Amino acid sequence: MDLLVVGSGFFGLTIAERAAASGRKVTVIDRRHHIGGNAYSEDEPETGIEVHRYGAHLFHTSNPTVWEYVNRFTTFTNYVHRVYTNHRGVVFPLPINLGTINQFFQAGYSPDEARTLIHELAGEIDVKDASNLEEKGIALIGRPLYEAFIRDYTAKQWQTDPKDLPAEIISRLPVRYTYDNRYFNDTWEGLPTDGYTAWIERMADHPNIEVKLNVDFFDESQPLHKKATVAQVPIVYTGPVDRYFDYSEGALSWRTIDLEQEVLPTGDFQGTSVMNYADADVPYTRIHEFRHFHPEREDRYPKDKTVIMREFSRFATGEDEPYYPINTADDRAGVLAYRELGKGEQDVHFGGRLGTYQYLDMHMAIGSALSMWNNHLA
Ligand code: FAD
Ligand code: UDP
Repeated sequence: MDLLVVGSGFFGLTIAERAAASGRKVTVIDRRHHIGGNAYSEDEPETGIEVHRYGAHLFHTSNPTVWEYVNRFTTFTNYVHRVYTNHRGVVFPLPINLGTINQFFQAGYSPDEARTLIHELAGEIDVKDASNLEEKGIALIGRPLYEAFIRDYTAKQWQTDPKDLPAEIISRLPVRYTYDNRYFNDTWEGLPTDGYTAWIERMADHPNIEVKLNVDFFDESQPLHKKATVAQVPIVYTGPVDRYFDYSEGALSWRTIDLEQEVLPTGDFQGTSVMNYADADVPYTRIHEFRHFHPEREDRYPKDKTVIMREFSRFATGEDEPYYPINTADDRAGVLAYRELGKGEQDVHFGGRLGTYQYLDMHMAIGSALSMWNNHLA
């Protein structure tokens, strides 16, 4: 073995694929029963509808190197992501655009009129004086839109009153003065034509790659554990960085999500893939309906059943899956301390979402793995 990769998410698999293609023998371990990390998907057995097991995953990128690389393993559908939000029983388009504004104010404003209105409403607080997320939100889009679409959704997602959240969380709230409601601004977007798992399996399908599942790097009862491998073989570690160092600098804080899946006896529950719920009296943040990610599969999917997933957000504790870094001041100090400790580890390279305590979209995880391979490991 020339390289041990801990974690088979997109970061670990990209490193493994590049190393294998250059003739190195690679072993990839993962403590889960499947490869692919959080991008893993599987067909729901009753309906055959592809479900993203760890929450909906939309691929999008403007990075030509990443786009060329991912197209070696999969083609992409022409799916374009759009999100709607339900506020007091009425559905509005997101991100906030001219359609949202006109529907909300029951008006027919032109782009210039809408700009003038938002400018007046937002004048209540100067952006420079905003000391928390609520003040910043009001300073950017005005109180009525902030209270309708941002305040309660954000409170549910972060389980924290926006008055107690740092202003930096929203550096900007995009408001479009056109009717364009594409969710992403990237050059390329789409979903893998044959699903995420087919894509992921093709990345790992190389005679130089050996994958071992249900193997935890910290389980000393199995051969490829930390104490047995560090300094014996180069390692790319994509698990949680605080766990690697036994939490010596404190546990980093994460948000997790609970996903409640349901098969419903209707061919179409909500007419779109993602519906946000903006109000405090609805306990979940959004509902995903998976059939709408693949309209090109309508012939294959049942006409009388659908799969939905309600998403609830909360702080992660103990064994919960860490999903989104919270990034408090203590966390930032902890990450710096772990980074220093990491420099002292012989030939261990920390990468990915958990290994660097960073929110990374898939294209970012793949891009940063390609950079690590080209600049440090190759
Ligand atoms: P992961 O995919 O988390 O992989 C890490 C792997 O390491 C896991 O398989 C884990 O089991 C394994 N591991 C951890 N500890 C150990 C251990 N001790 N021993 C062995 N194995 C271990 N990105 C997008 O581009 N678009 C989206 O729409 C999108 N939606 C998302 C929604 C949610 C809810 C979440 C959480 C993420 C989303 N992402 C999205 C981000 C995407 O999932 C990440 O970019 C991607 O997972 C990063 O890959 P990774 O390899 O760094 O980490
Ligand atoms: N947000 C909001 N209302 C919405 C959607 C998003 O207030 O309907 C805010 C919220 O603060 C959230 C942030 O925008 O944390 C990012 O949301 P997005 O849906 O892009 O993030 P995701 O959870 O998909 O990573």
